[in-house]
Amino acid sequence: MQLESEALGASADEPPASPSGCSPDLQRLADLKTFRSPGRGFWRDVPERDWNDWHWQLRHRITTLEQLQRLMPTLAPEEIAGTQLANHKLALAITPYFFNLIDPADELCPIRRQVIPRVEEMNLAPWELTDPCGEDAHSPVPGIVHRYPDRVLFLVTDRCAAYCRYCTRSRLVSNASGYDFHPDFDRQIEYIAQHPEVRDVLLSGGDPLLLSDEKLEQLLARLRAIPHVEFLRIGTRIPIFLPQRVTPELCARLRRFHPLFISIHTNHPRELTLEARAALERLADAGIPLGNQSVLLRHVNDDVIVMRALVQKLLLCRVKPYYLYQCDPIAGSAHLRTSVARGLEIMAGLRGHTTGYAVPQYVIDAPGGGGKVPVNPEYVLSRNRDRVVLRNYEGRVYEYIEGASPAPAYKRSENFDAPEFD
Ligand code: SF4
Repeated sequence: MQLESEALGASADEPPASPSGCSPDLQRLADLKTFRSPGRGFWRDVPERDWNDWHWQLRHRITTLEQLQRLMPTLAPEEIAGTQLANHKLALAITPYFFNLIDPADELCPIRRQVIPRVEEMNLAPWELTDPCGEDAHSPVPGIVHRYPDRVLFLVTDRCAAYCRYCTRSRLVSNASGYDFHPDFDRQIEYIAQHPEVRDVLLSGGDPLLLSDEKLEQLLARLRAIPHVEFLRIGTRIPIFLPQRVTPELCARLRRFHPLFISIHTNHPRELTLEARAALERLADAGIPLGNQSVLLRHVNDDVIVMRALVQKLLLCRVKPYYLYQCDPIAGSAHLRTSVARGLEIMAGLRGHTTGYAVPQYVIDAPGGGGKVPVNPEYVLSRNRDRVVLRNYEGRVYEYIEGASPAPAYKRSENFDAPEFD
């Protein structure tokens, strides 16, 4: 289906050439991997300078039902009801740039499902949680989450350029539910300075790249000045929601704080536009290693071809697919969650079928604060002291003999029978 914004002058790279007579899957993959610009859409009369100004984009975000209905008369009743309730749960906000990626004619549009509230968000299951990762219980100081031994999460703001309907931190971001988050950088930095085991600090939020250049630089400089902090990271969705923010000036400031890594968050290949690719290239050119975190979402990316296109397109943008998260059981997210079995099928459709660098680690963040647990399709069919029986990506079975290993120091039991894995 043609996007309305394409009809309004959006541009695209040439789709990658596909061999004549290629399968429908290959054709679909090539189409999903084509870099397009969403164009100006409803903002076609806005001067170029304003459109490319990240402050302008933030000032003109869609934040009310009235704005949304004016721009998108095709809103479904479930979306209208969801938007009416959003300001008490997780606010509505969409940048004009990102809004133009939505297909108004498709209620299942994967971009639309991520940012337009639906009334199903009000359905709460007993096992759903407002803080599924148990962050508040691991927070010694407001804005610091210390859950793993050698690293901390440093929350810098509760604001994002746009709000994802499945956000695991929706109790906090946008302040719609009255969490009233106020970071105190002095206390947060003091905590890190007093904990020499902390060698890795991940700035997150909310979105740290919404801070001004000056404020971000000051914060990074203070963290860099702590001798035991080896490694800085920023988690951000800015290159996807607001690529205009990734200015050459910002990149020039960030490059002073290496080793500095950035984790972006992308769920569907359509989010990787010409503009997003250019923003990511600016960051990569500043020497910043880039990784991506995706959340597995129903009718967004729970499809092998979509996920294959996403991970391959990320590599084209010089971004390593890092994690694929099973969607946390955040309150009101059942309509966006998909099964772990589906996640495993998708992983099996990536491993071996595409470049190893393109394969993320599938993880479940153990509810209640257990941390990330890797989940993999089963490739080890059985194992005993002498041999491992393996299944490869094509389903063929192979044996790895361990006979050459040094003899174990213990006496083998007469009835030795190594456990088998299903
Ligand atoms: S950008 Fe990140 S923190 Fe902000 S709403 Fe989306 S998932 Fe949550």
